[in-house]
Amino acid sequence: MISEIGASSDFITEFGKKCVRCGQCRSVCPVFTELKTEGFSPRARVFLADMIHRACKGSIGTSNSQDPAHMDHVDLSPGAQAFIGNAPTDILKKAWNRNLICLLCGACATDCPSGVPVCDIILAMRKEYVVHKGRPELVAELSQRIRETHNVTGDNNENRLLWMDELTPVPVHGEYQVTPFTRPQGLVYFTGCVASLYPGAYKIPRSMTQIMNRTGIRFALLGGEEWCCGYPLSLLGLDSEADEIAGHNLEKVISLGADTVMTSCPSCYYTWRNLIEKTGSHITVIHYTQLLSEIVVDKTVRLRPMEVMATYHDPCDLGRKCGVYDPPREVLRSIPGLIYKEITPSRKDARCCGGGGNLETIDPELSRKLAEARLSQASDTGAELIVTACQQCARTLSNAARKLPRTRNMPYRDGEPPRPDMEITVPRRMKVRDIADIVLSCLQSP
Ligand code: SF4
Ligand code: SF4
Repeated sequence: MISEIGASSDFITEFGKKCVRCGQCRSVCPVFTELKTEGFSPRARVFLADMIHRACKGSIGTSNSQDPAHMDHVDLSPGAQAFIGNAPTDILKKAWNRNLICLLCGACATDCPSGVPVCDIILAMRKEYVVHKGRPELVAELSQRIRETHNVTGDNNENRLLWMDELTPVPVHGEYQVTPFTRPQGLVYFTGCVASLYPGAYKIPRSMTQIMNRTGIRFALLGGEEWCCGYPLSLLGLDSEADEIAGHNLEKVISLGADTVMTSCPSCYYTWRNLIEKTGSHITVIHYTQLLSEIVVDKTVRLRPMEVMATYHDPCDLGRKCGVYDPPREVLRSIPGLIYKEITPSRKDARCCGGGGNLETIDPELSRKLAEARLSQASDTGAELIVTACQQCARTLSNAARKLPRTRNMPYRDGEPPRPDMEITVPRRMKVRDIADIVLSCLQSP
């Protein structure tokens, strides 16, 4: 699990020493698997970060070799200056650019036998670059946009409620009522920038609010007072700006007297959890899959059958980084008629959809190829439906699904693994759907 966003140069040196260059991380890194270039492997990122830090502290010059095997025997100079002020800009720029081509999916760190937190190192490098060498255009633009509009799209923040058009109104910054579930004070649904402001993702909050209305769960929205959770700023090294903006959201939630925040975006969920841990606030943070799971196990809720073979894609920020694996699976398994097939790899080993770390903006072609690779794994299960619980995964996978070739491997017999020699042309049937959308379509009228 990624423990901290941003860290010190000592932290990089410490873990640089722990990396034994075994290459285990390469085997699970989607970027390396696709690009097949050592420079983009997780271990190369760790090595580069370590080399830069040691060089800046004057330690590498005392060694006869820069071979990794010699690194442990190099003494750090005691009066070393703060890291990046000394580093040549071109090398840092190269490291910066390379580190942007990363999903921040955390697969490398999860699989590392030496416990090297590769993502933390990448984030620390980004942070140090921004602090010491200035803000690249991408960072400056995002920071300005969020500062001025309080969201990632640059829209008027009051537009956060446009998705509610034609739905039953719900309280905005309102009073709470006691709910029939375990929320004694009140639940704030933090919808997140993407689901609030991209029409393609409106379906998620629309489905979720209809489900809550129909099952009697009271909740409130922050509307224009909901600001970006801060995650996109943290990813680009702007930790203090991220903390500031997140602090606003926390203040609003506390001032409403709510005791629970629910997010549908896994990145918001991850950020809120870290925020609550850091501040020690008495707010419970849940992901909408956890509430959906509570709803479907409640015997008073009846679900219509859905005859479909489906699999589930674990979003990295929800699964690997926060450990939420079972609730979405419980939801799908509770739908009558739905045949659940587990995708390989899954849970902590799940492969990123290709949309993590903002890669879709930085390298859309690479992002699409990675999404196709994940879809192909979904297709190998025989499922025709891939369900996810993240607006970004849904978007990345849906875009790739439209372009997928109209063929897939068919098993030799039921239950046997797919065989390349049995590849036949079939109508492409792989669909991508959000889990709340699925539940809503199965909810029977009371
Ligand atoms: S798996 Fe860990 S120890 Fe091995 S090369 Fe990767 S980062 Fe280094
Ligand atoms: S976070 Fe993901 S994409 Fe980035 S280096 Fe690690 S495994 Fe590769």
